[in-house]
Amino acid sequence: SKTIAGEKGTASERSFVMIKPDGVSRQLVGKIISRFEERGYKLVAIKSLTPSPALAKEHYSDLSARPFYNGLVKYITSGTPVVAMVWEGKDVIKQGRRIVGATNPQEADPGSVRGQYAVSVGRNLIHASDAFDSATKEIGLWFAEEELSDYEPWVMADN
Ligand code: UDP
Ligand code: MG
Repeated sequence: SKTIAGEKGTASERSFVMIKPDGVSRQLVGKIISRFEERGYKLVAIKSLTPSPALAKEHYSDLSARPFYNGLVKYITSGTPVVAMVWEGKDVIKQGRRIVGATNPQEADPGSVRGQYAVSVGRNLIHASDAFDSATKEIGLWFAEEELSDYEPWVMADN
């Protein structure tokens, strides 16, 4: 059935992807977006914002007991914006995690965003949903339904 994260396992599946403040300040927004565009995923929503502490805390609520949680929230809400996006396509949640790479950039595949551009776990540039349930939570948290576009992919005009 159709949900805010599409239908799991189909071409309508959606993932929440966020370029974190370090990605914006390092001017890697275009290069990161290109990875998803060039792979063939469809951009469904995008906005730049500085999240409120409440939004950042809820986004990372599963990690609230971890020692790095407060620093993580502070970093995400520092005032340098994030770029929040929703990408759609076949297997986008799992493939998005592969594009992003391992949480610790020291362990990330060198072909991944983190493996190419990051060295520190606390400044690893990008977030991507890790499962269908977290995609559903995160898309709903960051976007209103009317901010999500439904459109046909590009096809060459015949005129
Ligand atoms: N993080 C950190 N130190 C750690 C583990 C995680 O600063 O030891 C930060 C890091 O920015 C990571 C985020 O917390 O991206 C969320 O952690 P998670 O385990 O969900 O990693 P992710 O899903 O981003 O790969
Ligand atoms: Mg995570």
